[in-house]
Amino acid sequence: MNIILLGPPGAGKGTQARRLVDDRNMVQLSTGDMLRAAQSSGTEMGKRVADVMARGELVTDEIVIGLIEEQIETVDAAGFIFDGFPRTLAQADALGELLEKEGETLDAVIEMKVDDEALVARVTGRSTCANCGEVYHDETKPQPADGTCAKCGASEFKRRPDDNEDSFRTRLLAYYRDTSPLIGYYYAKGQHVAVDGMADIEAVSAEIKEVLDRA
Ligand code: ADP
Ligand code: ADP
Ligand code: ZN
Repeated sequence: MNIILLGPPGAGKGTQARRLVDDRNMVQLSTGDMLRAAQSSGTEMGKRVADVMARGELVTDEIVIGLIEEQIETVDAAGFIFDGFPRTLAQADALGELLEKEGETLDAVIEMKVDDEALVARVTGRSTCANCGEVYHDETKPQPADGTCAKCGASEFKRRPDDNEDSFRTRLLAYYRDTSPLIGYYYAKGQHVAVDGMADIEAVSAEIKEVLDRA
């Protein structure tokens, strides 16, 4: 089973993708994580995209499609969770072709709906474990009081340079301009389902589970 988690920055895509990985043996493919990894390891591509990402603009379709293609062709998984990809119609077309080439289907496109005001609070309060990537939030999911990650016990946490209000505004505009047309695109294909991303993390997981059990 292959699914897309679609939603604006801070909607909870990464949080829910990680829970599906634990529960269903699926593999999370986050282009944001791949691009950040390229930056940390100092590759040419990583250097090229750093400024664009810090501003909150989209990197080129060519780069992200290349990253996804490599994963789909080499990783053997019970299913992929596409998190933060596709973000443009060109990326959606490319994904359709890549899956078809591998004899795979796209089983659901889950749109996570969250109000704009809630998004800015989510993004500016976000931190992640530097070791395992567990996602925390200053108010809704605070780091444990003893300063260690609840999942892996590590004690270093990171904040993203683009998780500030300025970059967030640019990212939100990019979402409405370039990514939200995918809702209609997948609706027309009969693959779109919306879930209430305003609910708490457990409730959102339960709603996604219901969608996947029906898919
Ligand atoms: P968010 O948590 O805001 O959804 P991501 O971690 O998915 O953010 O992406 C962070 C940044 O990486 C984006 O603002 C953009 O610059 C770049 N990026 C990630 N995925 C894509 C994509 N599919 N197409 C273009 N740019 C992308
Ligand atoms: P995305 O991958 O869509 O950008 P994340 O999963 O990283 O979003 O979540 C953004 C922030 O919001 C994180 O700090 C996370 O802990 C928090 N968060 C995620 N889901 C919820 C939820 N349902 N309710 C409240 N906070 C949430
Ligand atoms: Zn951890």
